[in-house]
Amino acid sequence: MAFLSAKFCFRCESCKIGGLFCPICTKLSLSLCPNSYILMADWFHSIFPDGFALVAGPCSAESEAQVMAVANALKPMGVGLFRAGVWKPRTRPGGFEGMGEQALPWLQRVKCETGLRVATEVASAEHVEKALRYDIDVVWLGARTTTNPFTVQEIAEALRGTNVPVMVKNAMVPDVKLWCGAVERLRNAGIEQIAAVHRGFGVIDETTFRNAPIWRIPIEFHRQMPDIPLLCDPSHIAGRADLVGMVAQQAADLDFDGLMIEVHNDPCHALSDSAQQLDPETYRRLIGELNHRKKTIVKDAELAQLRAEIDQHDSELFRLLSERMEIVRKVGELKQREGTPVLQTQRYNQILERRLSEAEALGLSHDFVKRVMELIHEEAVCQQLSKHRE
Ligand code: PEP
Ligand code: MN
Repeated sequence: MAFLSAKFCFRCESCKIGGLFCPICTKLSLSLCPNSYILMADWFHSIFPDGFALVAGPCSAESEAQVMAVANALKPMGVGLFRAGVWKPRTRPGGFEGMGEQALPWLQRVKCETGLRVATEVASAEHVEKALRYDIDVVWLGARTTTNPFTVQEIAEALRGTNVPVMVKNAMVPDVKLWCGAVERLRNAGIEQIAAVHRGFGVIDETTFRNAPIWRIPIEFHRQMPDIPLLCDPSHIAGRADLVGMVAQQAADLDFDGLMIEVHNDPCHALSDSAQQLDPETYRRLIGELNHRKKTIVKDAELAQLRAEIDQHDSELFRLLSERMEIVRKVGELKQREGTPVLQTQRYNQILERRLSEAEALGLSHDFVKRVMELIHEEAVCQQLSKHRE
């Protein structure tokens, strides 16, 4: 069996002697497949040489035949990393919770027969132990896991001393600190090979998307952690196969470093996330039609002029905001003198309605105007409250 040709143990990285158990750390040698030897300094570019990561595969590993069918279809499409969930987090009990450990040898087979690297989700120390035992190349933390720092810490400890690349999905809630915190916990455990995956955020009102993209969160994540490759998972954002391409293109326009997309050989009969999985042919078309913008910075006189105008407007906007807050403070003093409360909901509604009624004519979205007004009003209230404290 090809699987059992162990060369060295990645857990302690010092055992270069063959054999199933590493004599240094006495654990099961983690390198059981000859294709797994590249645990690389620059893992990302080693798996994705052109710098754009194509991660694809089914939501769940359902059977050996299914993973082999999808992997064989994806192999010629430039996919660098094959994904398949083995332990599936379900919101409510009773659903399909994944095939568990029995599916791990199927991924080993994918790896050995197609040469694709393989990735699965881990949500506990036990999952890490098992994934590594079966030679999984890359593990990922799901959105529910990133939401819980206790679990992230447990997984980070289980990974300590290994050199396994980890992909960290954003938390369910739009809180960039949880996402960065998970990366930091892994780094503190000595894990250096990390990528992040934007999969959208849980929303109450699932009108268009299953998980709202709220692009400002991954943009802020990237600003805070510019050296972490940032992928997008349009499947979990869209929740519907027909929207996956649109979200994928938006991610490419925003210069994401790659895409994790769910692909199933028979999406209609998938045991999990059936509505959002693509069949291999649709995936091939999507990737082929993806428009990658040039990375070069446009050095154009017209662009420089437009940017100068934007800077001028920004400066003017903040000068006006400063004047507005000055008036707000005077109103605050008046309210204090008269003993009236700071918050006057009727007045707030009036301000909001006036601005919202002008939004469309100004070419601004309802949501944008509402968010800006909420921020301005929040700051105004704070200014008046601090007056009250004086
Ligand atoms: C998945 O990738 O199949 C998955 C469960 O993802 P998430 O954690 O983003 O919901
Ligand atoms: Mn899924």
